[in-house]
Amino acid sequence: MRTRETPNSSELVTYAPFTLFPTPVPEAAFLQALAVQTHFNTLVDKISQDPHFLEEALASTIQADDFTAKLFDIYRHVQQEGRTQSIVVGLIRSDYMLDQGEGGTSSLKQIEINTISAGGFGVTDRLPEVHRHVLRSVGLLKESECVQDNNDRTAGMSAALAKAWELYGQQKAVILFLVEDVQISKLTHRCLEKELWNRNIPAIRRKFEEVSRRGSLDDDKKLFIDGLEVAVVYYRNGYMPEHYTEQAWDARLMMERSLAVKCPDISTHLAGTKKVQQVLAKPGVLEKFFPDQPQVVEQIRATFAGLYTLDMGPEGDRAVAMALANPDEFVLKPQREGGGNNYFGEDIVRVLQEVKSDKRRAAYILMDRIQPRTEQNIVLRRGLPLKLTSVCWEIGICGAYVRHEGELVLNEVAGHILRTKSIEQDDEGTVKGDFEFLWAVNVSPKRRQVEWKVVY
Ligand code: ADP
Ligand code: MG
Repeated sequence: MRTRETPNSSELVTYAPFTLFPTPVPEAAFLQALAVQTHFNTLVDKISQDPHFLEEALASTIQADDFTAKLFDIYRHVQQEGRTQSIVVGLIRSDYMLDQGEGGTSSLKQIEINTISAGGFGVTDRLPEVHRHVLRSVGLLKESECVQDNNDRTAGMSAALAKAWELYGQQKAVILFLVEDVQISKLTHRCLEKELWNRNIPAIRRKFEEVSRRGSLDDDKKLFIDGLEVAVVYYRNGYMPEHYTEQAWDARLMMERSLAVKCPDISTHLAGTKKVQQVLAKPGVLEKFFPDQPQVVEQIRATFAGLYTLDMGPEGDRAVAMALANPDEFVLKPQREGGGNNYFGEDIVRVLQEVKSDKRRAAYILMDRIQPRTEQNIVLRRGLPLKLTSVCWEIGICGAYVRHEGELVLNEVAGHILRTKSIEQDDEGTVKGDFEFLWAVNVSPKRRQVEWKVVY
């Protein structure tokens, strides 16, 4: 990947951070996460088509959170104008950690679903090979066979984009990657672009600012930029308030109003908010989306941790009291993406003391804090000394789907990504704070009987 010092140069690059050894993940948890993914794809897609649900779920949030409110304004605008495009493509990622219960039990718990700019493909596709090599080189041959291949993500994601492009039906139209101003991860996007070009699908990269200056809609609401018709807009940017200027908001609105397929469209973006996640965990809500499929409901619900509203009212009051009494047992989450936004421990107390008496608290949700098991590993990260350190992991399952005229014509699991976080960077030595982006792609589900002993 590119470096922080020269973020827009491909001449000076460094390796993406990774762990020297793969971190083992229990087979049962891995298979459980894979098995539920197509249901999550379906669920996100159903939510995105349910204006009543989105209105109700986000009503209090948009009063308290400006960013969600601005996204919601675009949603309303598009709803009122009437949808123009019946093709939707979703590239999502559902993240999980393994919660250690009492007596050695553990259960897979969902951390969140990412519906916009979900990463986890590209340059890290080859990490399993690196890990196999490392294990062989220290004589751990049996263990090296446990490392799961993981090169299906880029192919799976590009297949969904390609399908949407095909359905759009214009040979010359392009897939537009809407990219950041500072493009540290451009090389990873290139892996996806290359897959598209291999299929003779032209892919271009533009920033909000370029779309704002040079993009336009024709009378049929087709989206054009630099003389090129856009079949699909793939957002790699636009999930944080900092990504937007006034012009960027206008450009987002123009793209959402257009005939181009959006990945994701504004309603799918909103379906990925933390507030929606919390509402889904309320009794009876999943049943509405899967009325005749109790097993699907059960499978999805089994992955939910405790999630609590902070809306004004008795239920929210109870959640506030609970969090203040035992802050170490919860995570306080605002409606933000991209890491580094959540509150833990004493910070929860500080924030809640400030907002607890008024509707500002509805900008957040409260979640049970997962207690993961820790492992030992060596993290390779530019500038960090090499040493054995305690780490914990979070696994993401990538899902890809395409809807066309009301039918899911593609609904697939597109691989996994395992991220490992050093937990020794915290003052208290506890699992606290957000994940560093330490990509470590490694799972050992095939041969779980192997005893995992890494010799350093
Ligand atoms: P973001 O959208 O910023 O990625 P997440 O919900 O994924 O927000 O949270 C960011 C990070 O915070 C996670 O990767 C994880 O390290 C930590 N985290 C989030 N929720 C929990 C939880 N319930 N228990 C423990 N850690 C959590
Ligand atoms: Mg996350």
